[in-house]
Amino acid sequence: LPPLPSGAPVGRIDDNTFSRYAGCKKFDQMPLSKKTKDGLKGSKFSKMTDIQKASLPHALCGRDILGAAKTGSGKTLAFVIPVSAYILEKLYKIRWGPEDGVGSIIISPTRELASQLFDVLKSVGKHHGFSAGLLIGGRKDVDTEKEHVNDLNILVCTPGRLLQHMDETPNFDCSQLQVLVLDEADRILDVGFKKALNAIISQLPKQRQTLLFSATQTKSVQDLARLSLKDPEYLSVHEEA
Ligand code: ADP
Ligand code: MG
Repeated sequence: LPPLPSGAPVGRIDDNTFSRYAGCKKFDQMPLSKKTKDGLKGSKFSKMTDIQKASLPHALCGRDILGAAKTGSGKTLAFVIPVSAYILEKLYKIRWGPEDGVGSIIISPTRELASQLFDVLKSVGKHHGFSAGLLIGGRKDVDTEKEHVNDLNILVCTPGRLLQHMDETPNFDCSQLQVLVLDEADRILDVGFKKALNAIISQLPKQRQTLLFSATQTKSVQDLARLSLKDPEYLSVHEEA
């Protein structure tokens, strides 16, 4: 593969280039910016896990994904990388800034999981210029959070706290949302979150990329309709022991 110009942000790839990346085994071979690659190297990631190999080319093409792989198989990077890459591209190409609102929302079912994936996002995105925030219940004063939430490009949140901001934060704007991620999607799509999730979804633009990852495959047609998924890729990875 021809080397990418150093320093150039690389976001989405097109359908024609997709096949070139479908068999790649290492992050280094993927069409990622130097900033993203440096972030990955700094975190000691070099070989991709199976779910990362299967999903990254599709995700970088902008496709909707339903990814299933068991706990511990590396699903976090399978969405953190495309989110970072795409938001970085937007920031660079159209001089996106804080005033443009939130570009990506990553929803996690628990505070603990949200904080863990926020740490991964921070370490992979260490060299990027985007701003990311962790919005989870009980962590800090929600009023202070409200003053800053409109300056964030990427939100990592639990459903309840996100909804609270949608309802209470003045000028909270999701109209430019590009990528929605549901981590542990089966848990978020479960009845316990149904009301909150429906309320959230109703406030998001339908024209966006949606990435769902969980340990088990979500096949409920109702859920897919609820999330307005467009011709999603079903990726199930069961690694050999
Ligand atoms: P899952 O969400 O599928 O349960 P995680 O994304 O939490 O899995 O990753 C599980 C562990 O594997 C983490 O400690 C993470 O740092 C590590 N990991 C993920 N991807 C890679 C990789 N490509 N190379 C090495 N370690 C990885
Ligand atoms: Mg996980």
